[in-house]
Amino acid sequence: MNPSLLAIHAHPDDESSKGAGTVARYSDAGVRCVLVTATGGEAGDILNPAMDRPEVAENLASIRADELAEAAEIIGFDEVIMLGYRDSGMPDTEPNAHPEAFVNVQFDAALERLVRIVRAERPQVVLGYDEHVRYPHPDHVRVHDLSLELFEAAADAERFPDAGEPWEISSLYAPVFTVRRVETLHTAMLGLGHESPFEQWLERLDGATDEDKDLVHIDITGFHGRARDALRAHRTQVDPDGFWFQVPIDIVEAHYPYEDFELMKTRVDAPGPDDLFAGV
Ligand SMILES: [Zn+2]
Repeated sequence: MNPSLLAIHAHPDDESSKGAGTVARYSDAGVRCVLVTATGGEAGDILNPAMDRPEVAENLASIRADELAEAAEIIGFDEVIMLGYRDSGMPDTEPNAHPEAFVNVQFDAALERLVRIVRAERPQVVLGYDEHVRYPHPDHVRVHDLSLELFEAAADAERFPDAGEPWEISSLYAPVFTVRRVETLHTAMLGLGHESPFEQWLERLDGATDEDKDLVHIDITGFHGRARDALRAHRTQVDPDGFWFQVPIDIVEAHYPYEDFELMKTRVDAPGPDDLFAGV
């Protein structure tokens, strides 16, 4: 069995902020890692003041594709497949009404493309999303819905019979920011006399817990640097002094060196607790 992991993301930069250290770790261990990015991120705001220039805004799609290629290489993806849909933007905005926006493309048409990729790549592990609640960007919701359906459809010979031999994905996970992670790092930062970047995040959580989730924790000690470098490669989207970089890596590694994943669907008997390929 050749171990293989397929990560499905909505926009360029999501692959770097969600589970990048884990992919880097598996890539270094010899797992083939393939990235599918659904949209070009054309509706993204330029969040780095140094990059907020007219020529950047005019060429955002091609600049973001270059940033994505750079980030994917840093993380260790073997291949990047861009589906080429348009970024749907947020509800009630102009990009959201565009006929080629990811949310406006026929669901089964997008699903067939993913089924075809899965049947060709034959990954045991697929990363999708569980972002209905916390980050209701329409493109993220779409990836959530598609990845759940993909788990069933790729294995079903009667669905998309022209898209390749059926393939049973072993486990579908979603990278998640757990309450435990946010609270642990928040407490660590305050305890060491630093400001915590998680104040507002904790307010938004509003009593949420991780208890309803089946979680897998991947220790990415030694890989945080690569994940952050990948995020920094998204120069237009990421402020190098911003939120993502405010907890020093040595503090993260001392207090919560994990990326957390929610088990969404599985066909194996004993998934988890510290390996996405457990039971495969
Ligand atoms: Zn996104």
